[in-house]
Amino acid sequence: RANKSTHGIFIPHLVASLEQVEQTYIMVKPDGVQRGLVGEIISRFERKGFKLTGLKLFQCPKELAEEHYKDLKSKSFYPTLIDYITSGPVVWEGVGVVASARKLIGSTNPLQAEPGTIRGDFAVQTGRYSDNENVGRNVVHGSDSPENGKRETALWFKEGELCEWTPAQAPWLME
Ligand code: ADP
Repeated sequence: RANKSTHGIFIPHLVASLEQVEQTYIMVKPDGVQRGLVGEIISRFERKGFKLTGLKLFQCPKELAEEHYKDLKSKSFYPTLIDYITSGPVVWEGVGVVASARKLIGSTNPLQAEPGTIRGDFAVQTGRYSDNENVGRNVVHGSDSPENGKRETALWFKEGELCEWTPAQAPWLME
């Protein structure tokens, strides 16, 4: 909700109750970093209106990558996926941000990702043998559920590394 001051200027208050606020963990993957897409990808989330609450660039240790992708342990591509994940994570927070961020990112397989999405615009790997094989180089990661958004954020960011702030544009983004 936003209140109008006596001067006609909107004063941002809480735009959503705390239960409504989701966290998602967005990671620019090593191919995105190597290809100079960090700014472009962050910019897309900023332009959408999401609030950045944490940002770091670092070489991901193997144990962290394994914990992050533990649900994919049984997949044949798991070892190469772990080898590939090494740098550049960012976190965004906002209302409905998980599903919305997945839309901005596009399908896992770059061939199926629509133009206009991050993967649709910037990823070329389309599968060596079939549509769903070898789709690893897809530039960016986004949590697939609010629960995983919380889990992954806690995994990649320590307490005190996230910044709580009120964006000036908040009342212009939501009623
Ligand atoms: P998403 O990242 O879209 O949530 P998944 O959770 O299914 O997709 O997979 C995690 C990541 O593992 C993908 O983004 C991609 O980098 C890699 N990956 C998925 N499927 C394959 C595959 N068949 N071959 C190689 N890498 C894959």
